Amino acid sequence: MKVFDKYYQKEWAERLDILATEMLSKDDGETLKKMARTPEIGDTMIENYVTDFTLPEGLALNYVVNEKEYVIPMVVEEPSVIAASCNAAGIVKKAGGFHAEVTRRQMIGQVIMENVRDVVSLSGSLQSHADQLVKVANAAHPSLQKRGGGARDVRVRALDNDLVSLDLIVDTQEAMGANMMNTMLEAVATYIRQQFDQDVLMSILSNYATQCLVTATCRIPVGLLTKRQIKGDQAAAKIVAASRVAQLDPYRAVTHNKGVMNGVDAVVIATGNDWRAIEGAAHAYASRDGHYRGLSMWEVVDNELCGQITLPMPVGTVGGSIKIVPLVKINHQLLRVDDARELMTVIAAVGLGQNLAALYALVTEGIQRGHMRLQLKSLARSVGATDAEIPAVVARMTAQNTRDSAGAQAALKWVRAHA
Ligand code: NDP
Repeated sequence: MKVFDKYYQKEWAERLDILATEMLSKDDGETLKKMARTPEIGDTMIENYVTDFTLPEGLALNYVVNEKEYVIPMVVEEPSVIAASCNAAGIVKKAGGFHAEVTRRQMIGQVIMENVRDVVSLSGSLQSHADQLVKVANAAHPSLQKRGGGARDVRVRALDNDLVSLDLIVDTQEAMGANMMNTMLEAVATYIRQQFDQDVLMSILSNYATQCLVTATCRIPVGLLTKRQIKGDQAAAKIVAASRVAQLDPYRAVTHNKGVMNGVDAVVIATGNDWRAIEGAAHAYASRDGHYRGLSMWEVVDNELCGQITLPMPVGTVGGSIKIVPLVKINHQLLRVDDARELMTVIAAVGLGQNLAALYALVTEGIQRGHMRLQLKSLARSVGATDAEIPAVVARMTAQNTRDSAGAQAALKWVRAHA
């Protein structure tokens, strides 16, 4: 469209004017302006910036991880996620909390070579120059080495008879490290082109962070799971069965893992981290043996429900937008984690807690009971109920057992007629 020619070169206010005159009403233009909380920051973070899109932020409470209690900011638009998380964390807290451990924290980057004439010979050659390749990488981002991190190793993998991947293993310290690593990888790519006379197709970080793993576990005496008529040992047995289904059936496993990521993503977003990276890595890791499976597993041992989850968790406490966005800075203050490793442990615990909450609800009262409380409020609001009318509309919908927008409209009409 002509009006968007050189849009990126226009001042922010001018960009909004174009929208308000060409596509939206003046009022909508004003709304975009009002929603832009920090245009000076947005304009430096992304291109063609127009406004800030907000999502609700709430707190997950009751999380005890490695004997430390956390106040965990979660950014999420889905009702019930936070309530469920708090409930599950509360049960685990009574049992002593979560235990979580980082097994490794290194990132992997790739230099992919194409048109390889002799894969075996090139692989051997690259491997024998490993020290030099590590040196080249470190020289491209020396500050990382000064902080105690840096490139550590290389490994070479033949992808086909004409394609080779050089994997660079880097300790990125407190950063997720994508940008730093891309700088290092491009330097290594240039070196390979020159010294090995080899075509390079691309060089970039791999989001399959298999060397950046965290495991969270918990053990819950089954008695703590007693709910109304359902005995704790029965609930525990059903959670174990549900976990088994997620190991066997991808249709269930994806939903199982979506529930895990409800918690994980919410904290990842709140802490200014790259949730696409975490999502991508989690789902690839879920298929690591060639079959997509649930990321968490539950079993009963000695009358305790034992849960475990292992996740790739390439998050940082610096880098990207983390030290730029004011709310992200506040969220880190709330969380009080000392470093990226500790952040990894908290997020893994939230993933396991969120999974426990979902499975516990599914195998006992069903997920809708909790979901619907807030969902009905949203429905009432969506059909035009005011803040004052919402409780009565929700009460009417509950009494009428209606859960759709037609029901919400009818309830609103009834409330107004009986006001
Ligand atoms: P940055 O490019 O912001 O680099 C990290 C910064 O943190 C550096 O400037 C570094 O300083 C500084 N820093 C301060 N203290 C430390 C410390 N203790 N340890 C490490 N660094 C420190 O971020 P990343 O390299 O982490 O890249 C993350 C961003 O890259 C994310 O926004 C992500 O979305 C994006 N991205 C992701 C891709 C992917 O996932 N495939 C691809 C491309 C980008 P100094 O410079 O002095 O070392």
